[in-house]
Amino acid sequence: MNALIGAMFASVFLVIAHTNPTIRRARWFALAYAAGTLEPISNLAIVLGAPTNAMRVIGYTAFLLALVGMALSLSHFYTRRPMWRIAGGIVAGGTIFRLLTLETPSNAWYLVTYQAWYALGAAFCAWTILRHAPRSRTKKMFYTIFVVISLHFPVKAIFSILLGIGRTERDYTETTYAVVSQTSSGVLLVAAGLLLLVGLMQSVVRRSDADARRDPLTGLPNRRAMDEWLEPGRASAKAGGWVALIDIDHFKAFNDRFGHGAGDDVLCKVAECFGSNLATDARLARIGGEEFVLVLPDSDRGSAFEICESLRQAIACMEAENGMGVTVSIGLTARLRDETMASTLRRADSALYRAKETGRNRCEISAGREEWTSAPVVRKRPELVSVA
Ligand code: GH3
Ligand code: MG
Ligand code: MG
Repeated sequence: MNALIGAMFASVFLVIAHTNPTIRRARWFALAYAAGTLEPISNLAIVLGAPTNAMRVIGYTAFLLALVGMALSLSHFYTRRPMWRIAGGIVAGGTIFRLLTLETPSNAWYLVTYQAWYALGAAFCAWTILRHAPRSRTKKMFYTIFVVISLHFPVKAIFSILLGIGRTERDYTETTYAVVSQTSSGVLLVAAGLLLLVGLMQSVVRRSDADARRDPLTGLPNRRAMDEWLEPGRASAKAGGWVALIDIDHFKAFNDRFGHGAGDDVLCKVAECFGSNLATDARLARIGGEEFVLVLPDSDRGSAFEICESLRQAIACMEAENGMGVTVSIGLTARLRDETMASTLRRADSALYRAKETGRNRCEISAGREEWTSAPVVRKRPELVSVA
């Protein structure tokens, strides 16, 4: 039964790894579970007449490999360097112990040491989680299950001493201890497997969630992310603050002249330039082709305008391609209480339209009746002109 459970989990992890390119690492879990199946299979093989000593070593080492393999897989999963030396030490130590005790009668010392190597393997998994997993609720669950697995081995040793394990493998299958041992191992095998599946699924969901809110070209949050920040009812939406709609000037002409690839580079450079000139409370998103939205939750009119001006000037001083510069036009507006983002953006858009109409490379501010206009930037290098 335990061989079947192990094989089932190995297949599930393999299928997950090969159908989800983002979590190819799941195949290491498949390997660990596949190694674990060798332990019950080797026991069965002995009963069916296979060479006893060889099968004893294979079964014992395979289960140790499964445990340390699990620890190595967990390190891979958390994208940390696996602790190969410790893993090697546990497998080598356990295998040597088993080789030296092939004919040893089942005394208390032997039974305790037999389980101690397994306990060490499971403790290695728990320690790996403690060291390599980022802080999360699943980390606690993973850690707990491997601590329980680790502790269940010495408990099994006590039961094996009390109940007896029989003289041969055939005797063993008929003991009460065999039922206790196989059942407890089976239950923990399933619990660990299910938890790992949950962890893998969580990482897939987290990743696709993040991808759905990120612009793949610039790495900035996208329109969906911005809509969520400002969704009515959210804490981030309640604050007043200011919103700027930023649009690259004559970007189509830039693309036509230098190619789409150069245009993409400009988009990335502009995003980088914004990123390095913004305070941490500001939020920036690329909401479409060459349009960005900047949310300034804690700014008043004067500081919002200053921020937009400094961004505009920073972009105008940036070299894009073959000595050519780019410029941006900005429409700035206040976020009114309980207003939908669509109507805030509509006002920002009309301010932006005015900035375009009145010569581009400028910032227009629209806040009810008050309207400000920025002067066009004085370029640092006179040879940098936007493509008109
Ligand atoms: P204006 O100054 O009035 O804003 O003129 P514009 O040329 O910047 O505006 P327009 O809306 O006419 O053109 C926007 C261009 O942006 C058209 C499209 O080819 C380009 N664009 C949109 N998305 C991308 C992108 O992801 N990469 C590149 N390279 N170009 C893009
Ligand atoms: Mg545009
Ligand atoms: Mg444009």
